[in-house]
Amino acid sequence: MVLEIIVATIAVIANCAIAFLVFVHNRRSATTRFFFYLSLAIIAWIVATFLSLHSATEVQKLFWTRAVMLTATAQALFFYLLVITFPDARLPLASNRYKFILGAGLLVAITALSPFLFTHLELQPNSSYSPIPGPGMALFLPYALGLVVSGLWVMIRKFRHSHGVKRNQLKLLLAGTGLMFILIIVFNLLLPLLANISSGVDFSPLFPVIFVGFTAYAIITQHLFDIRVIIRRTIIFAGLLTIVFGIYSAIIVLVTQLFQQNINTRESFFTNLFAALVIGFTFEPLRRWISDRTDQWLFKKEYEQQTVLKELGQKLNNVVGLDEALESVMQTVAKVLHLKHAVTYVFQPGENNTTAIKRVKQVGYSTAAKLILEDRDFTVQYFSQTPTICLTSDLRTELEQEEALIEQNKVEATFIRQHAIKQAVLKKLESMEVAAAVPLQLNNQPIGLLLLSDKLSGETFRTQDLALLELVGAQAISSIQKAKLFEGDQMKSEFVSIASHELLTPISAIEGYLSMILEENIGKVDPQARDYLNKVYTSAKRLSLLIKDLLSVSRIESGKMKIDAQQLDISKMINDTLDQLKFVAADKKLEMKFESTEKNLPPVWADPDRTMQVLVNLVSNAIKYTPKGNVTITAKSDKHLGIVTVTVADSGLGMDKDQMSHLFTKFYRVDTPQTTGIQGTGLGLYITKSIIEKMGGSITCKSVVGQGSTFSFTLPIFKVETSVVA
Ligand code: ADP
Repeated sequence: MVLEIIVATIAVIANCAIAFLVFVHNRRSATTRFFFYLSLAIIAWIVATFLSLHSATEVQKLFWTRAVMLTATAQALFFYLLVITFPDARLPLASNRYKFILGAGLLVAITALSPFLFTHLELQPNSSYSPIPGPGMALFLPYALGLVVSGLWVMIRKFRHSHGVKRNQLKLLLAGTGLMFILIIVFNLLLPLLANISSGVDFSPLFPVIFVGFTAYAIITQHLFDIRVIIRRTIIFAGLLTIVFGIYSAIIVLVTQLFQQNINTRESFFTNLFAALVIGFTFEPLRRWISDRTDQWLFKKEYEQQTVLKELGQKLNNVVGLDEALESVMQTVAKVLHLKHAVTYVFQPGENNTTAIKRVKQVGYSTAAKLILEDRDFTVQYFSQTPTICLTSDLRTELEQEEALIEQNKVEATFIRQHAIKQAVLKKLESMEVAAAVPLQLNNQPIGLLLLSDKLSGETFRTQDLALLELVGAQAISSIQKAKLFEGDQMKSEFVSIASHELLTPISAIEGYLSMILEENIGKVDPQARDYLNKVYTSAKRLSLLIKDLLSVSRIESGKMKIDAQQLDISKMINDTLDQLKFVAADKKLEMKFESTEKNLPPVWADPDRTMQVLVNLVSNAIKYTPKGNVTITAKSDKHLGIVTVTVADSGLGMDKDQMSHLFTKFYRVDTPQTTGIQGTGLGLYITKSIIEKMGGSITCKSVVGQGSTFSFTLPIFKVETSVVA
C-alpha cells in the first residue's frame, strides 16, 4: 500500500515534469500538445483510480469510478491524436472523420459521468464494491477500445515505414503506450467485466510508470520532443544555485566560527564582501564545469555554435579555391554533427529557366555512383525552388499526408504532379542516404545545394543543428559568391591585359607617325591641318595613357606586376621628374621646386621605372589640379624607421574629407565645376598606391579645399624581402 502510493506519486510527478517540459518547449506542435494532454489525462486517471480505491463513502466511490472512465476516454482520445500527428503533423480538423471522433468523445465523456455507464455499486461477498455496467458501456467500449487499438495500429504502420531515429522513437513510444494500455484494458476492463476479478485494479496506478519510463528514455536517448536543451539549462541553473548558495553559507559560517560570533557590522560587511568576491570569481568556471558535466551526460558531444562558425570562418579565409572552401564547409559540418557524408552542388542557370549543375564536391561518399549528376534530375529542380532547409523525414511525413488527401480525391492535377515530383525527390534522397537538404539561395536565385547524411549515431537533426546549418549555408553561399567574383575578375583582367597589349601597338604607331608629321619631317603641314593633327595627337596620347594605365591595373590585379628593387638615388629621380614636367608647369605659370632638407639622402630600395611612374603621376596631378601658385617637392629620411618620405605639395583645388575617402580607388575622379575639363582616367592614384605598397612603402594625403593638397609617400632604405601587397 505504501509502496503503491510512493510509486504512484513518483509517476504523477514524473509525468507532470515531462508533460510540462514538452509543452513549454514546443507549444505550437500538435504532437507535443497532444502528448501534454495525454499526460494530463494519465495524471487525472491515476488520481481518480487512487481515490476510487480509497473512498470513504459509497457515493464518493461511485463518483470516482465514473471519473476513472472519463479520464480513460480522454486518454484514448489524446493517444489516438498524438499518434496521428506524430512526429509533427497538423491535425486535419476540417475532415469529417475528426469531427466525428471529437463529437463522439464528448458524448462518451458525458455518458461516463452519468448512470448510463455505471448504474450503481454492488456489494460483493468479499465485502468489496463492484460497479455495475449500464447501457452506456455499449458506447464506451467500442469508442475507447477502438481508438486505442487503431492508435496502436497506426503507430505500428508508422513504425514499419520509418527510418533511423524516428523508428527508434516510435519503438519506445509504442512499447510504453502499448504495454500501458494492454495492462489497463486487461486488469481494469476485461477482468472485472468478464471474469468479475477486480483485484488487478489496485495496481493500476502503477501502469503509467511504464509509459513515463519509456518516454523519458526516448527523450534522453532518442531526442524525442527535443527537450534536452531545456533539461540542460534547468540542471545548470539549479546546480549553480545550489553550489553558490553552499559556498556563500560555508564562508559565512566559517568566519562566524572563527571570530566566535563576536562579529560587528563592519566585519560582517567584509565577510559578505569576501564571500561575494569568491563567488564572483568562481561563478564562470563553475558554470562551465557544470555545463560540461551535463553535456557529457545529456549530449555526449555537444558543440558551441559560435566556436564552430568562428573556426569555419578562419578556415575559409585561408583557402583560395572553391573546391577547398566547400570541402572545409562540409568537413566542419560532418565533424560537429557526426555525419557519414555530405555533398555540395554548385548551380548555374540552365536551358529554359532550369537549373544546371556546375560543380559537385563531396566528402565521405565511397563511390560517386550515388550522387546526382544529371541536370534534369528532379532533386536539382525541386531544391532550386525551395528556399528552406528540408529534412528527409519531414518530406516523408508530408507525402504521407498528401497521399491521404489524394485518396480522398480532394486534389487537383497540379497537386498530384507536385506530389509525384516530391516522391521522386524523396526516393533520390533516400538512395543517397541524405537526411537534410540545405538549399543555397542568394536573392531568391538558386546557387547551390548542400546534402547531408544521417548522423552516425542515428539521431535526428535538432533545432539547434538546423540553426547551425542555416549559418553554415550562408558561409557556403558567400564562398560560392566569392569564387564567382574571382572567376569574373580573372576573366576581366585577362581580357583587359590581352586587349591592352593589342591596342598598344597600333596606338604607338599612330603616335609615332603623327609626331613625325607634326615635326614636318615629311613635308610642310598646313596650319589648319596642324590644328586638327594636334588634336588627334593629344587624343592619341590620352588613349595610349589610358591603355597603359589599364595594363598596369590588370598587372596589379593578376599579381603580375614585377618589382625589380635596387638601390636608387631618390633626389636624382625627383630632379629627373621635374625636368620632364617643367614645361607643363611653366605653361600654367606654376612655380615648381624640389627642397631637400638633407644634403645626402640615403639611397632607397625601389624599382626605378615604377618609382618614376609614381613621381610623374603625383607631380603631374599636382600640376593638373593647381590653377595657380606652386608645386613643392620635399624629401627627408628617418634612419630609425628606415624610410625616406617624399612629399608633393601643391596650392591647388584641394579636396574635402568625403572626396579624399575615395582617393586611391579605381576610376574615382572628383567631380566639381573646377575639375571639369581636366583630363584623366581616375586610375593614377590607384596604381600609385599599389606600386608603393608593393615596394614596401605607404602613401597618405592631406588636403584642404581651396588651399591645396599634400601627398606623402615612403620608400624603404633597406631591402624589403617580402612585398606588403601581392
Ligand atoms: P586622374 O587621372 O583623374 O588624375 P588619379 O587617380 O590620379 O586620376 O586621381 C584621382 C582623382 O583625385 C583626380 O580625378 C582628382 O580629382 C583627385 N586628385 C588627385 N590629385 C590631386 C591633387 N593634387 N589635388 C586635387 N585633387 C587631386
